[in-house]
Amino acid sequence: QIIMGIETSCDETAVAIVKNGREVLSNVIASQIESHKRFGGVVPEIASRHHVEEITIVIEEALKRADITFADIDAIAVTEGPGLVGALLVGVNAAKAVSFAHNIPLVGVHHIAGHIYANRIITEFTFPLLSLVVSGGHTELVLMEEHGVYKVIGETRDDAVGEAYDKVARSLKLPYPGGPHIDRLAHEGEASIKLPRAWLEEGSYDFSFSGLKSAVLNTLHNADQRGEDIEPKDLAASFQESVIEVLVSKTKRAAEEFQVRQVLLAGGVAANRGLRKALEESFSESEVELIIPPLELCTDNAVMIAAVGSVMFEKGKTSDSRLNANPGLELK
Ligand code: ATP
Ligand code: MG
Ligand code: FE
Repeated sequence: QIIMGIETSCDETAVAIVKNGREVLSNVIASQIESHKRFGGVVPEIASRHHVEEITIVIEEALKRADITFADIDAIAVTEGPGLVGALLVGVNAAKAVSFAHNIPLVGVHHIAGHIYANRIITEFTFPLLSLVVSGGHTELVLMEEHGVYKVIGETRDDAVGEAYDKVARSLKLPYPGGPHIDRLAHEGEASIKLPRAWLEEGSYDFSFSGLKSAVLNTLHNADQRGEDIEPKDLAASFQESVIEVLVSKTKRAAEEFQVRQVLLAGGVAANRGLRKALEESFSESEVELIIPPLELCTDNAVMIAAVGSVMFEKGKTSDSRLNANPGLELK
């Protein structure tokens, strides 16, 4: 079974070919980061325009690198949401056009399901499993009892982790996207600045990062007013320590309560060195198998979309020509 995955929910135009749900035949990503950098974030109009310019080229390149033609493809999986509506529309319409022209079934995929399935490229899933999803727009704990069925047991009530990283980075005048820069600085600094941890009500698996973000901004502002110097690397280390402590602790507690067999890390922030290390330490003595995706599958890509598409296609969960972009699509 050969699946083509198409992903255009944000600022990456990505197409991949995956065999039997787990074997990557090609993985092409055209990143637009350079175009958005000078604005300090993703500009939706610019993103859509780039997707339109790139999508055909990226599809052709993915076929070429996999050394196949459209005739070899069993289904086309495309991100239908969530994301930027104009960006999603480009991928969805490209998928529909190819599907119609070559008579290939369509599968609409949830972007966050994609981030979770990036892990299936390296290890087969064993249920029940728990995913810690940490990305630019999402922070969630997701429980799965079987393929393709998701139960969100906790989520952020305000900022996503990646968003908090990017905002803190911006306040330290680091380039966009700021996550990797904070990660690097954090390793050079000492977590010597006191910052809050939002545990929320006892037993809650929800998260909150806006208070922490504000505390970082206040720390910078107060130091500036008093004419004191703050070491950016120490602030980065303190911020990262606070984020990781809450994420790891809630993940560990949920893994125990729901007696899962595997814990998966997913989303762009899964690339964070500090988080990867802290999870590894936390689960080193545990019976639970911890799975951490390879760096190139953490941030947005189409391999993960094809990986979900493979499972859905097998279950007969295909879409028809009414498939549309859905920026607020829920995971379930
Ligand atoms: P979503 O998946 O929620 O729709 P998105 O697709 O925009 O959002 P991703 O591509 O999954 O987000 O992840 C991008 C985010 O990951 C950015 O916020 C970026 O700063 C963050 N990120 C990337 N690498 C690191 C790192 N090493 N440490 C911390 N954050 C990182
Ligand atoms: Mg991106
Ligand atoms: Fe993403």
